[in-house]
Amino acid sequence: MFPSQGKGRGFESHHPLRFMLIKKNFFTVLKTDKKTNARIGRLSTDHGDINTPFFAVVGTNATVKTLSSQEILETNTQLILANTYHLHLRPNEKVVKELNGLAEFMNLNLPTMTDSGGFQAMSLGAGREHSIGKIGFFPKGKRMNEIEKKSLVKITEKGIEFCSHIDGSKHFFSPEISMQIQSDLGADIIFAFDECTSPLHDYNYTKKSMERTNRWAARTLASYNKKQKIYGIIQGGVFKDLRLKSTKYIDSICFDGIAIGGALGETKTSKNEITEYIIKNLSDEKPRHMLGIGDVDDIFEAVERGIDSLDCVWFTRLGRRNMYFIYPKDGGNFINRWRKNIRSIKSISKKPLSDSCSCKVCKTYTATYIRHLVIANELLGIRLITIHNLFFVNHLMEQIRKSIQEGKFLELKSYWYG
Ligand SMILES: [Zn+2]
Repeated sequence: MFPSQGKGRGFESHHPLRFMLIKKNFFTVLKTDKKTNARIGRLSTDHGDINTPFFAVVGTNATVKTLSSQEILETNTQLILANTYHLHLRPNEKVVKELNGLAEFMNLNLPTMTDSGGFQAMSLGAGREHSIGKIGFFPKGKRMNEIEKKSLVKITEKGIEFCSHIDGSKHFFSPEISMQIQSDLGADIIFAFDECTSPLHDYNYTKKSMERTNRWAARTLASYNKKQKIYGIIQGGVFKDLRLKSTKYIDSICFDGIAIGGALGETKTSKNEITEYIIKNLSDEKPRHMLGIGDVDDIFEAVERGIDSLDCVWFTRLGRRNMYFIYPKDGGNFINRWRKNIRSIKSISKKPLSDSCSCKVCKTYTATYIRHLVIANELLGIRLITIHNLFFVNHLMEQIRKSIQEGKFLELKSYWYG
């Protein structure tokens, strides 16, 4: 027998099944907490593995505002979520495709996600008409005037017609067009095209919209390239029977992951209840993503109920509003929402933003200096706070994963809640 015909060798090096044997599963659950639904796992993508549960950092325009790609890596971020609608308008998906897709376009060696454009149907459409954000109302003083309130969106069975918020030009997204754009953008994980309803939509509209989103889900799967990983989106607003119908349908068709979208009620209690109800009715093997949610307690509550990832602009947006996050050791708790305003620092000291933070900002700069930068309107100020805040949320996720591994998730949660 020639060496190349040795037992098993031919199979190992040439048989097509070899690739199936070594190809990693997209998602593996490694451990589920005994007292809660919290679980740790791993997502495998072409740009590397992701430890779950994780926080998806929002990079709307293929950038995390004020940070370079190198700085994003230094915050231990595991994945960037960019926005299909914004990148379609500027610079356009063809430009990103020409430069080998989103990660290479950003020169960022990390897994990426793109959303489907459905959220913009809410924020440019009903969001304007109803003057609302995702969960509740826009803060006082931020209410839109009558012109701004006018919906920029027309929704039909075919898809959604948008007016660009940049120049008013008309654009049309359908499940098929969203798939084409997301295929060109080339993220590792993409989302099905949906309509995100407003919390002020009534039962009948939410039902009609959810049923249409289900039909769009089937069109999405029929037209997508089958190379990227794709998440279906559960809608149905605050209505349990609609959420159940959507959950059963989206879970039953061939998506790689499941996302929870849309309005979850005006209170955190309602949000937690609906999340719990959805997950109770979902199968266990697919990863679960929660769209657009993510304060510190939202993260604990979602993970406790079995969510594997979340995304939110919270930590970066608040950073640009001078807010920096603090750990329980520095006095962070449920009451002060684990954050402080840099402008509120009164005493001059050599202390960093946080004594217990090991980010490069806390190792290098004093809070007094950063406060000076912010007050003098120097861009470096918000950039340093953004780096600290992202490091903070990624470190929080790391602690959560460790606590689930050690069976101490609830202990960690009560320590953080103070
Ligand atoms: Zn720090």
